[in-house]
Amino acid sequence: MSERKEASHGMRPTTAVIAKGFDPRLSVGSARPAVFRSSTYVFSSPEAAERAFAIASGRAKAREGEQVELIYARINHPNAEILEEQIVPLERGAQGAVVFNSGMAAIVTALTTFLRPGQSLVHTVPLYGGTQCLTHEFLQPFGISAVAVRAGDGAALDAAIAATPNLGAVFIETPSNPTMVMTGIRRAADAVARRGSGDGPRALVMVDNTFLGPTFQHPLMLGADLVVYSATKYLSGFSDMLAGVVLARDAALIRPLRASRVMFGNILQPDECWMLDGRLPTVALRMNKQSKNAQRIAERLAKHTRVAKMHYPTLFEDPEQVRIRDVQCDFPGAVFSMDLRGGRPAAFDFLRGLQLVRNAVSLGGVETLACHPKTTTHSGLSDEEMETAGITDSLVRVSVGIEDWRDVLADFEQALNAI
Ligand SMILES: *Cc1c(COP(=O)(O)O)cnc(C)c1O
Repeated sequence: MSERKEASHGMRPTTAVIAKGFDPRLSVGSARPAVFRSSTYVFSSPEAAERAFAIASGRAKAREGEQVELIYARINHPNAEILEEQIVPLERGAQGAVVFNSGMAAIVTALTTFLRPGQSLVHTVPLYGGTQCLTHEFLQPFGISAVAVRAGDGAALDAAIAATPNLGAVFIETPSNPTMVMTGIRRAADAVARRGSGDGPRALVMVDNTFLGPTFQHPLMLGADLVVYSATKYLSGFSDMLAGVVLARDAALIRPLRASRVMFGNILQPDECWMLDGRLPTVALRMNKQSKNAQRIAERLAKHTRVAKMHYPTLFEDPEQVRIRDVQCDFPGAVFSMDLRGGRPAAFDFLRGLQLVRNAVSLGGVETLACHPKTTTHSGLSDEEMETAGITDSLVRVSVGIEDWRDVLADFEQALNAI
């Protein structure tokens, strides 16, 4: 990771995530944050309560350095504040963060805060299953039309951005799940800028950065306005909690997201904030190790006779994909997918034969997991959508953990050999 001193106070991200955002004096001297489980907060005076409500509702603005009192945990609580301050330095270019009780909560709140009925959304496909469902089953019936563009098709994305009426947002998932096809973020942001604002505000560029961020991919530095995360994955890293985050390049986008969160009641709870906060200092360590492991394993398995095609960034052949990878990603990440010879029976035999690696969906944890996207995570797609996305019967997706890579490789090899 190339670390630049752009975080506040001249600290690099891996330092700032430990040093910033937490004041031990507010936790009776505790060196690490305490958990504040209260649902409601005691005011120092009725005037302080009045002031806190005026600021929370947007009727007044806090003065520089003013200590505004807390009100009620659905509106805000200390552990959310600590987590949000500590996560900002990890996302290059971010001015603020808002935490939610799942990745889907973050995504639905971001989309419904900035899109109105009558507006349109342009998005890449395939999308994460939950997001795909959200666009079809909720946003479209709600009056927000969605235009799908195949991941990696920069020209089609340019055209859709230029031609879609009342464009409110562009939502990009890169790399795509499960085939790791990359979409150029800078190119999409440029297309939005060329389109201009017309009669309303300019469309926002949102990137789901769950697969490579915050360590390897920095969308806000490439022109994106918002980054969304399922913190359930790499940010928390142990497959033991759900959480979501939205980060913004412009601090003015944070207030409306917070206002939605108060209404929707989907703030991340104090215990989960505390857990996630404790995982942040090791995100870069874990992701670096996972990416190194995955690269070693994927590049070796690519040569196995049972593997027809390996989908992994260091094995890209298409020149445009190679170009996007090189300008957009510091390291290839820890997810790969492989097309096995022998169709679905081979894929199922392989999953059945694994002894160390577990057959489960999700990704980003310290343990290696494998799944069959066509019949699980992507089973809601139509045959045509499956075909465009390259999700075949023989495709297996792997999320690599922090085990010794040689043990994981050996498990994959024995399961491949036993098909
Ligand atoms: C898991 C995931 C989500 C949804 O996150 P939850 O925390 O499960 O709600 C969204 N986008 C991507 C890319 C994901 O992998």
